[in-house]
Amino acid sequence: MSGETASTDGDARAVLLEALRADPPRTAILTDIDGTLAPMAERPEQAAVPEAASLLLASLSERYGLVGCVSGRRAEDARRMVGVDSIAYAGNHGLELLLPGDSEAKLDPSLEGREQDAREFIAALDAAQLAGLGLRAEDKGPIQALHWRGSADERAAESRAREIAAEAGRAGLEPHWGRKVLEVRPSGGAGKDTAVAALLAADPVSAATYAGDDRTDLDAFRRLRHLRDRGELETAICVGVASPEGPPEIPEEADLLVDGPEGWIAILESLAV
Ligand SMILES: [Mg+2]
Repeated sequence: MSGETASTDGDARAVLLEALRADPPRTAILTDIDGTLAPMAERPEQAAVPEAASLLLASLSERYGLVGCVSGRRAEDARRMVGVDSIAYAGNHGLELLLPGDSEAKLDPSLEGREQDAREFIAALDAAQLAGLGLRAEDKGPIQALHWRGSADERAAESRAREIAAEAGRAGLEPHWGRKVLEVRPSGGAGKDTAVAALLAADPVSAATYAGDDRTDLDAFRRLRHLRDRGELETAICVGVASPEGPPEIPEEADLLVDGPEGWIAILESLAV
């Protein structure tokens, strides 16, 4: 035990890490960014990936079959933030894929004709009322986000976000909740499960790990386990990055629980040696 959260004990951790180190060319290391590699910041634009983490990902990409970041951010923003060109990025929860060497992200073809739906929905809301509540819109192309971290009355902002989520659902869009953020997504297909499947399809492996801290990451956990249950992966290890504000399912569903981004970066270090 350390800090406010529990983490997996040393023996169990060693066994799991050994399974990932056994055959690096046939192993994938996948990671969420915000809250997992980068400590949470008051505003998304203030979040930064520690340089040590970027260097580790670059070094791991030389030995492991696949190293990729999965993010709710746009794929190109994710690459800019991590600063490593030799790894893959799935952005916007899998709606965008940016593979090593690609100059721009490819949009999921199933989205055709619906790219603007979420943007039009948010644009029709009362902007002055959102501003008054401290609800900040983030334009992520096909996905739109409303953030209220740090607003003067977070409870009032969240309560309005709940109404907006219901309106989005009635408008045929999909509301998704994160840590003090509501995302409005086009219906069908967008999720970190899709992102993980797209990355693994591009680069087949026999073992994979995925690390995440939030509700949206549970979809990635479940997809990894599903692939293992179907025999497409021999090893699937879900790493939960614990935080006091994270959802309870993260520690419940993780095979390996670490304390905050520094705990996950320590795991990456041990995979690199
Ligand atoms: Mg996260």
